[in-house]
Amino acid sequence: LTSTLDTVHADDDKILPFGQWSRSAEALWSATRFHSCEFSFRGSTIRWVGPTDDAQGRTDVFLDGELQATVDGWSDAPESEVVRFERSGLRDDRIHTIRIVVRPDRHPRAVGSRTTVASFEAESPVSYPDELKRLKDEEYELIRRGLKPVSPESEWVPIAAKAGFPQGGVSLGAGTYREMFDRNVAYLNFCFSEKGYCSDEFDEDWVEGGPGWTQWLPASNEGRMLAGAAGTLRWRERADMRAVVDRIMQDIADRMRKDGYFDYYPESDSYTRGYDDLNSERKNYDRVFWTRGVLAAGLVGDPRAYPAARRMYDWFNSSSHLPTMLEGGNSTNGLPGGPLMHLSPVGKADDLVVTQRFYDQEFWMTELANREPLSFTYYPGDRPHCYDLLGLEAFIDEYRATGEQKYIDAVDGGWQAYRESFLHVGGATGLCELGGPYPPGSLYITTGHTGETCGSVFWININGKLLNLRPDEEKYAGEIEQALLNVIAAAQDDRGFLRYHARLHGTKEAAKCSSTCCEVSTAGLIGRMPELLYSVDDAGVFVNLYTNSAFTWTDGGRQVSLTVTADVPAGPDVSVTVATPRDEVFALRLRIPSWMAHEVQVQVNGVEHGNGRPGTYFCVEREWADGDVVTFALPAAFSVVEYTGLDQVEGGAGRYGLLYGPLLMALRAPAEEDGSVPRIPVAPEELPARLVRSAAVDLEFEVEGHPGYRYVPYSAIGSETFTCYPVLDGSPAG
Ligand SMILES: [Zn+2]
Repeated sequence: LTSTLDTVHADDDKILPFGQWSRSAEALWSATRFHSCEFSFRGSTIRWVGPTDDAQGRTDVFLDGELQATVDGWSDAPESEVVRFERSGLRDDRIHTIRIVVRPDRHPRAVGSRTTVASFEAESPVSYPDELKRLKDEEYELIRRGLKPVSPESEWVPIAAKAGFPQGGVSLGAGTYREMFDRNVAYLNFCFSEKGYCSDEFDEDWVEGGPGWTQWLPASNEGRMLAGAAGTLRWRERADMRAVVDRIMQDIADRMRKDGYFDYYPESDSYTRGYDDLNSERKNYDRVFWTRGVLAAGLVGDPRAYPAARRMYDWFNSSSHLPTMLEGGNSTNGLPGGPLMHLSPVGKADDLVVTQRFYDQEFWMTELANREPLSFTYYPGDRPHCYDLLGLEAFIDEYRATGEQKYIDAVDGGWQAYRESFLHVGGATGLCELGGPYPPGSLYITTGHTGETCGSVFWININGKLLNLRPDEEKYAGEIEQALLNVIAAAQDDRGFLRYHARLHGTKEAAKCSSTCCEVSTAGLIGRMPELLYSVDDAGVFVNLYTNSAFTWTDGGRQVSLTVTADVPAGPDVSVTVATPRDEVFALRLRIPSWMAHEVQVQVNGVEHGNGRPGTYFCVEREWADGDVVTFALPAAFSVVEYTGLDQVEGGAGRYGLLYGPLLMALRAPAEEDGSVPRIPVAPEELPARLVRSAAVDLEFEVEGHPGYRYVPYSAIGSETFTCYPVLDGSPAG
């Protein structure tokens, strides 16, 4: 029994072409590698109908994110309407999406590389953007009328994190992480000495470029300084950072209105503003990044902090503005505030209930759980952006608070969809605010709007929270390592000023000190960054990142100090030395990075203990004595990663990124005469063997036989021209 299928022809706008496609009523076609088109539908059956002839190439067909088939359209007996792909028996209670992608390879006898759609056939074709908007409008109407159901507190079953990052006790030795940390302190001290906590250099922005970040979003400006300084204080008490926390917390306490409203501006200038008003960002973004800063101050013992946060949220939770909170610029930014408060030492159930009632968007969570990247591209609230990741961050906390499966399903599906579709090689975000939409896999590199730094901070936050839930899943630590080494380190200039975007081609953007969103997020992240090196649970310690550092672990009355000697990936050797006044039984779990090419032999006191598999934590559980030492080596190797985004070069050759272990490498190359993308006449698979480490410059590699082409870590690029994606082409030039 076959149900009736609707035919959607090539020129129907329910079909979404991404990249360069030619289109008529009869055919939608492309021959550009990795360009794709997508079509969504409800129902159990899907068919792609198109021609087979000698100009057709090979195509990858994905359904709901899973590769189904690679089909070859070449034929020496042309036919115009062939069922190129068909699936039936699909679940009919959800939206499905078929994605077809032009492959770079083709049949040896093919004279073209075309992928052509004549039509798609399905029971209920759907325009994905329209459908998502319809679902959103329905849900926002319920929210506006206060009718959205939420789970009662009595049904919540809180989930304990399996491990946590240390609150203190970590110190950084020489290395990249220490340099980042010190530059951030210099930045904070500089800011603190300036009017508005920003550099005069950017005064012009304040006058001409709109109201300016500090005047327009003053709460997050103070939140930035608090989060950075208080985060730093967790690792060592120091007068400079304490003075920052002290002054700003006093200002906050003095400014606060009797009813708890933080009172940087009248409510009418923030909470009553709608989509079109820039000041509407105050009610969500400004509040949430203030919350992060104040809670960070609470964590380092400022007596005004927790009470201030509590009073503000007591005001907020009973505010008459709640039903329209999602009607404002970048409203997703408001999601994490309540959950962060709820899990803080002064949390209340109301913090979470308000989030569930006025921020959670079930339609979006369903699409995230379905692993649908279009739900980022066409997020119908205000607005598609890397800030959508704040939803995932909030959902992890809401899962921790309620135990409701829908939250963690949305997080896991969203994590997967984001990682597959919006993460540049090296970890920068491919989802930005302007110049969109950002289709799945678009990974634009020629636009200035890619790699927004705050997006990587949110990605680190998400992976950190997931690592606490699932501490032995190495992939989360791997994402954190890449984002720190390749995006956050690269965002800083020598003064600790911060770049807004991680551009991967051309020249880097100038770093700023004007309280941009990226500074607000990044200053706080770097302050608390030492926490990311280790996780702890009842059974022992996990080592997540390898840099010279020490960790004093005193939980459960223990007095264990671990000293890590390492500078991975600059050098391979790692040792972990245990200091303890009495023998202690605990588990030491060592991250074996997924970027390792082979198993790692781990030695305890010079004796072989076992082999760790890449992508796992290797556990050494024993009775430890003072002076015990664990040693192993993590030699980095090169990996070449093909660029699969939409910014392909003309002429059929591919672009490739290069990683050295976790490090994103950038090519300094002589400029091409015609301004085109630098091209190395080496086949991609041959490149690693041709790279020779320079004796003079750390982590610089020459391309053997091609002097003038040098790879350096992306974070080491200054003002020079570079690309992370050169063309690699071993075929004879011509
Ligand atoms: Zn930003």
